[in-house]
Amino acid sequence: MGNKLYLIKEGEISLKGGNRNLFEKRLRHNIKDKLRPYKSEISKQKGRLYAYISEDAPDELIEKALSTTTGLTGYARAHRAEKDLEAIKAKALEILPSSAFSSNGSFRITVKREDKTFPYTSHDIAVELASVVTSLFPDIRVDLDNPDYTLTCEIRNEAYLYTDQTKGEGGLPSGTAGKGMLLLSGGIDSPVAGYMMAKRGMRADAIYFHAYPYTSELALEKVKTLASLIAPYLQGLRLFVVPFTEGQLHIRDNGYEEEATLMFRAAMMKTAEKIANANGASAIITGEALSQVASQTIDAMSFTDSMTDLIVLRPLVGMDKEEIIAKAKRIGTYETSILPYEDCCVVFSPKHPVTRPVKSVSKRHFEELKMDGIIENAIRDTAVYAFDANGKEIDA
Ligand code: ATP
Ligand code: MG
Repeated sequence: MGNKLYLIKEGEISLKGGNRNLFEKRLRHNIKDKLRPYKSEISKQKGRLYAYISEDAPDELIEKALSTTTGLTGYARAHRAEKDLEAIKAKALEILPSSAFSSNGSFRITVKREDKTFPYTSHDIAVELASVVTSLFPDIRVDLDNPDYTLTCEIRNEAYLYTDQTKGEGGLPSGTAGKGMLLLSGGIDSPVAGYMMAKRGMRADAIYFHAYPYTSELALEKVKTLASLIAPYLQGLRLFVVPFTEGQLHIRDNGYEEEATLMFRAAMMKTAEKIANANGASAIITGEALSQVASQTIDAMSFTDSMTDLIVLRPLVGMDKEEIIAKAKRIGTYETSILPYEDCCVVFSPKHPVTRPVKSVSKRHFEELKMDGIIENAIRDTAVYAFDANGKEIDA
């Protein structure tokens, strides 16, 4: 087949002993899923994946697929040559002019000679390839330690040459560590939390509590955009939009004002647990960070935990806002998250929230609110959206 070849480095997968096959299978599946409808074939040879991707697949699509798939640490567009020194040099001569190499910079040659029967040593090959480079770029310098450009040659069952390596996401392939329910608000934190769990191998669906008209249609659109932006890391997800206006008003009108946020969070946990159980998820994921706001104290988080039997994962718990923002920028959610549509917590926030709830007391207050019926109704009226592994909205 007429194909583009990419060499892919797996990450932590190589540590996984018995599960290794499963992890690799998932990684391959995840990459192929993103490249559809284009044909791709991914094979394995000594610690490397070889992805042969149909010539007509756009480079942009391939780039996005490889850069958002968790569980791979790096990749490079590679060029094949016959395992013959002259053929290798000829291939270098062909690919270098359109690479990043230029005369005003430095370079090194890296040779990996996996096939020990190849009659030239790594040093021989490096010297020959260096002469090709200097013939093309007369003023280029050699710098073994800190080169601007690297030409790598791997001698395996064929010879492979590549100039530009891109770092991958690392972590583990999403889909190898169970499934969570991400509480996705329109803020900066929760999309990052979803991404972090994807990197540890989880899949997830998401839930957004919508309090229309207190939170606008635009707030919902923003959350849908965020869901589509994290979908590539999670290999696609569904978004459950739970209408929670009645619940918010009920809490406002019947609860203690200072406890409003706590009661809302308790109701979210109860609702999320039910949706998780009905959809094969065994954890709840939130974007909370310790002490970031009043409802994120140890006592408050401990109270919300007590509202569900599911494990509550808070991957951002020890991070400060700057770190979270840096990640949000890197994964491309930040610009959407800072759009100014308020989420419902802000609208219904008490002026003097309780920061040190007594679990037994707040639990009793929540029970007195008798929210079971409201929660049932909200779940019944939940709307579902779906996004594929490329973030495209599809039929749910
Ligand atoms: P974020 O930046 O993710 O909105 P935040 O710092 O604003 O978080 P809170 O508003 O207290 O903090 O929310 C804490 C977490 O609770 C969020 O990270 C999210 O996981 C969840 N959450 C809050 N509001 C909603 C909502 N309307 N729908 C779904 N989940 C929510
Ligand atoms: Mg928020």
